[in-house]
Amino acid sequence: CGIVGYIGKRESQGILIDGLRKLEYRGYDSAGIAVFTENGLEVRKSKGRLAVLEEKLGGEPLHGSVGIGHTRWATHGKPSDENSHPHTDNSHKFSVVHNGIIENYLDLKDELMAKGHKFVSETDTEVISHLVAEEYDGDIVKAVQRAVKRMRGAFALGVLTEFEPDRLVAVRFASPLVIGIGNGENFIGSDIPAILEHTRDVYILNDGEMAILKKNSVELMTIDGENISKEIFHVDWDL
Ligand code: GLU
Repeated sequence: CGIVGYIGKRESQGILIDGLRKLEYRGYDSAGIAVFTENGLEVRKSKGRLAVLEEKLGGEPLHGSVGIGHTRWATHGKPSDENSHPHTDNSHKFSVVHNGIIENYLDLKDELMAKGHKFVSETDTEVISHLVAEEYDGDIVKAVQRAVKRMRGAFALGVLTEFEPDRLVAVRFASPLVIGIGNGENFIGSDIPAILEHTRDVYILNDGEMAILKKNSVELMTIDGENISKEIFHVDWDL
């Protein structure tokens, strides 16, 4: 339902939680974040309001300047801690937040299970993290491109891998996603309000487009790997 992501120089946890709070008006049943910490990619998520997640984080905040967050409106699998996003693969090296629906997830799940992947949730989304892990051979952009070509349905995605902690990959297909351009930091959001506190310069992705964010750059391409350029949209309204 709601996506926010950050790559930059500041602590990401507060930015992710604040961004998710701006998307609360859309409704949701669970919330979660994944952050690169000195212990690797760490995920905290829970059913319920953002306050429940914050309580979980309260004692032990996740420190790190790259992260993704999600508020979920369940479509496949009941609201529960396990079904909340971000989802990971079995190695816990890949993490995904997803808005939308993967229509062929059961077929993909069967195929991945036959290859030894173990699923811990009932969601359609979890196939994405396993599929990206399965397709990975050293380049997260190519792995995501190969994975999304196998997926049918609607999706906006934020993807992180511990193997490439300087990159945040975002994809849009029939589910909205914007990229916020900052100074030494960049953002993703499923809607402008999620990032408006930090920047007014955004790229609005179209279907079949993706963005590779580093803290000092944003690269735009199609899911076929063709580079594209896009005008910056300047947001001149306030919340
Ligand atoms: N289909 C996914 C799920 O049920 C994502 C739902 C959403 O957009 O929040 O977990």
